Amino acid sequence: MVSICVKRISLCLIFCLVIGISHLICEENEPFIIGDIKVAPGDVRSGYLTVPDKEDPGCFIPVTIINGTKKGKTLALVAGVHGYEYPPILSLYRIKQMIDPKSLSGTLVLVHIANLPGFQKRIVYYNPYDWKNLNRVFPGDPEGTSAQRIAYVLTEEVVKKCDCLIDLHCGDANEALIPYCYWMLSGDQKLDNITKEMVLAFGIKHIIIDKSRTKDKSDSKYLGNTVVLYGKPAITTESGYLGRTDEESIARNVKGIISVMRYFEMIEGDPEPVSDPVWIDKYEVIYADMDGLFYPETKMGYYVSKGEKVGTIMDYLGNVKQELKSPFTGIILYIIETPPANKGEPLFEVGRIQKD
Ligand SMILES: [Zn+2]
Repeated sequence: MVSICVKRISLCLIFCLVIGISHLICEENEPFIIGDIKVAPGDVRSGYLTVPDKEDPGCFIPVTIINGTKKGKTLALVAGVHGYEYPPILSLYRIKQMIDPKSLSGTLVLVHIANLPGFQKRIVYYNPYDWKNLNRVFPGDPEGTSAQRIAYVLTEEVVKKCDCLIDLHCGDANEALIPYCYWMLSGDQKLDNITKEMVLAFGIKHIIIDKSRTKDKSDSKYLGNTVVLYGKPAITTESGYLGRTDEESIARNVKGIISVMRYFEMIEGDPEPVSDPVWIDKYEVIYADMDGLFYPETKMGYYVSKGEKVGTIMDYLGNVKQELKSPFTGIILYIIETPPANKGEPLFEVGRIQKD
């Protein structure tokens, strides 16, 4: 009697062990729910997240969910936080075609155009209903104006449901910009190491070491920073410029996304991290403090010395009013290359190369 019992127990243990191991090796993914879209494992669904009307009009956020058959990370890719930044937007439509859920571990959340009102109206920086910059109003407010409500939906549906995120930007329609990324430091060594590997995997050479973002979760301002404040890795990337849709900028985004997916073991293959990163340990955006016309006197990617003239502002009557100088020696990450200079808006960004 006892020996039969022991046999049964050991058979049962072996059975549980086999099931457990096979479960670990190839664990089935679960359905993914975002807004009112439910996506079964192995399926792809596209649809819209709804931003309701309030005092100003509501809008929709077009999304695609690629839900892998196997378990893994949930990576969110967000394009179009600024609606006139096209290469990131176009790259996500390519990713949608490229990724087969049957060979994906985890879930890919594609936010095709976060700021659809800005995209539709062809507007730099802002949302046309409230003239706020979506990337300054996170985590958003369900009772606020249009940009704040968009930010709120993105925080609730994307930030809170993902494990990691790439916020894909580029130079706006007025900005000549070299490719670069922001590595946002949280102070948590483990998280910062993952984010560092993620930013290297994206493959862009110039990387800003960014310690400047607020630690206030209720006023996180930036999408990427919001994710980091939730204790999850996120990077902000910049590839593309001047409202163009050049192949090089789009392909750079696609390559970077694939490499990050490989880093998180979502698809087969090895990541291709940048081999010769250029770290930027300080950066400054110089803003216009008057309205007028901006005349750049250097170009994106050029090096400038401390105090060197970068451009001038002329008033609407043609009088030179101001000379803009570089606050320190560094590289021009972007510079405005269309005439309008508006008080409070950026003119250029300079980055200091870290010394070894
Ligand atoms: Zn942007």
